[in-house]
Amino acid sequence: EQERFDAIVVGAGPSGNAAAYTMAREGLNVLQLERGEYPGSKNVQGAILYADALERIIPDFRDDAPLERHVVEQRVWMMDDASHTGMHYRSDGFNEERPNRYTIIRAQFDRWFSRKVREAGATVLCETTVTELLRDGRGKVIGVLTDRHGGPLLADVVVLAEGVNGLVGQRAGLRPELRPHDVALAVKEMHFLPQEVIESRFNLAGDEGVVIEAMGTITRGMTGTAFLYTNRESISVGIGCMVGDFAERKVSPYALLDAFKSHPSIRPLLADSEVREYAAHLIPEGGYKAIPQLTGDGWLAVGDAGHFVNAVHREGSNLAMTSGRVAGETVAWLKRRREPCTAAGLAEYRRRLEASFVMKDMRKYRGIPALLHRNRHLLDLYPRLASQAAQTWLRVDGVDKRTKENQILGSLRRARGLRGLMGDAFRLARAWR
Ligand code: FAD
Repeated sequence: EQERFDAIVVGAGPSGNAAAYTMAREGLNVLQLERGEYPGSKNVQGAILYADALERIIPDFRDDAPLERHVVEQRVWMMDDASHTGMHYRSDGFNEERPNRYTIIRAQFDRWFSRKVREAGATVLCETTVTELLRDGRGKVIGVLTDRHGGPLLADVVVLAEGVNGLVGQRAGLRPELRPHDVALAVKEMHFLPQEVIESRFNLAGDEGVVIEAMGTITRGMTGTAFLYTNRESISVGIGCMVGDFAERKVSPYALLDAFKSHPSIRPLLADSEVREYAAHLIPEGGYKAIPQLTGDGWLAVGDAGHFVNAVHREGSNLAMTSGRVAGETVAWLKRRREPCTAAGLAEYRRRLEASFVMKDMRKYRGIPALLHRNRHLLDLYPRLASQAAQTWLRVDGVDKRTKENQILGSLRRARGLRGLMGDAFRLARAWR
């Protein structure tokens, strides 16, 4: 007779690994399917690992996880064509025994996580693409078909951890097609440099690291951000904007990344580096309103497949791991109670997510994507004005300070008018609530 699994997990990114690990640890018979040659081979991320989400799954992960640097300094830059106006925060408080954020290299990290999933007892098959969901006569999902196995693979529940594209769920009619204004396209490069060069260039000791998040005229009026993260012997640099914006403006992502890299504030940080990897990937940045249906009879969606990305705080993998863990815990809980994985039973997953930071944060920023889409000037005009104001204020040129203040206020009023300025502040405050 054909083996029947307690759960099949589609995908071995952070969300699928968290779900598979959690269920396997609870003694469930888990099969995980990954289309890549190995877990991580298809995955692209900046990448910052938020320790808390992983610690709740594997408390001692620091013992052997491949970590690059722990973040001690965060820079947030508003950029115009020639300058950046920044907020930097650096603290020795981040040099703690159990650091809170690390830079990682996803290909290595996903492989490590997958090893943990196997050690916990799950069966992991790579180079296996799930092509279809199987349903019974009443529509309940009962398993999957793959490109590797002739026959069906059956399970009580299928966890869709297939990432942003969500083709398996889409083909089964469980989720709508992605809309261009709900996803960002990000392009990224790895720039290699000797470890000592990175450490002196960024003022770092040991495995300390720096994160730069940037916005402004670098995205040419499109909604998006750029980033630069220090790894041990490389720097990840990338930029992303909404797919709908790229299509409307007819700008190429590569051209945008090239312009970012040659910006006078970025170029010296990358000088003499050797570029070895290049990658492009979608990020589900449509926010709360773009979250698709998350559960149904015999299935649930986690991570990017559930559209869990907090674009304001640049968080994704932690929401992926948390939603994967919560999904795994819910399935194990139903098993313990000997309840079937019906739509009613699995609805508990959504209830638990609602009580966690995942849905609370998604809901908090639900107005941000539309605000940025309708108010293009926010990411363009204000960085320019901030730069102009700093120029006026910092130049010592015989003009008295009160006149300078008036010049700055005057340029703000001319650019937006008093009502425009107040309207922007009001709209931003309302969307931020
Ligand atoms: P994924 O990581 O996409 O994994 C899905 C897996 O499913 C893949 O391995 C894929 O091969 C597999 N798969 C898909 N379809 C099938 C199928 N039919 N059959 C079998 N397998 C399948 N988040 C952060 O927290 N910090 C960051 O710094 C950060 N930076 C980012 C930078 C970039 C450029 C990008 C693109 C994203 C970034 N994110 C970041 C977001 C983060 O990468 C995602 O939120 C996270 O990877 C989602 O995990 P996931 O497991 O849901 O999906």
